[in-house]
Amino acid sequence: MADRISTTQRSALMGKIRRADTKPEMVVRRLLHRLGYRFRLQWKAAPGRPDVAFPGRRKIIFIHGCFWHQHPGCRHARVPTTRPEFWAAKFARNEERDARNLALAAAEGWEALVLWECEIVDGPGLQAQLVEFVGPTRVLRQDEKLDLV
Ligand SMILES: [Zn+2]
Repeated sequence: MADRISTTQRSALMGKIRRADTKPEMVVRRLLHRLGYRFRLQWKAAPGRPDVAFPGRRKIIFIHGCFWHQHPGCRHARVPTTRPEFWAAKFARNEERDARNLALAAAEGWEALVLWECEIVDGPGLQAQLVEFVGPTRVLRQDEKLDLV
């Protein structure tokens, strides 16, 4: 059967796929996998439903979008010029929620790391940061459950 997707369409499609894979969350997840960590996504048992959680280590990672979470001093965090009051109120609520979640997490004994999207670049810097935060990986005993890691 003839391939009905033109070369242009195909490369557009593949471009889309490639872009999806460079999303900051994917970069972090892929790196953690490569390093051999076991983790949960959107873990509901921790405050603020962190993007990545290591329940056994009691560590969580939030991946913040620079715009929605207003990364201080970041060029992606400019407040839109239309409806400034609306945005100011929205961002204030987001910041308040972020602060509350971090305080709650700390009170419950979770150690949290906040990563800003603009700073997530697949490479040795991020890798070192993750290993330093999460701690050394370890080999599971056969009777251990993956959930506990
Ligand atoms: Zn940023």
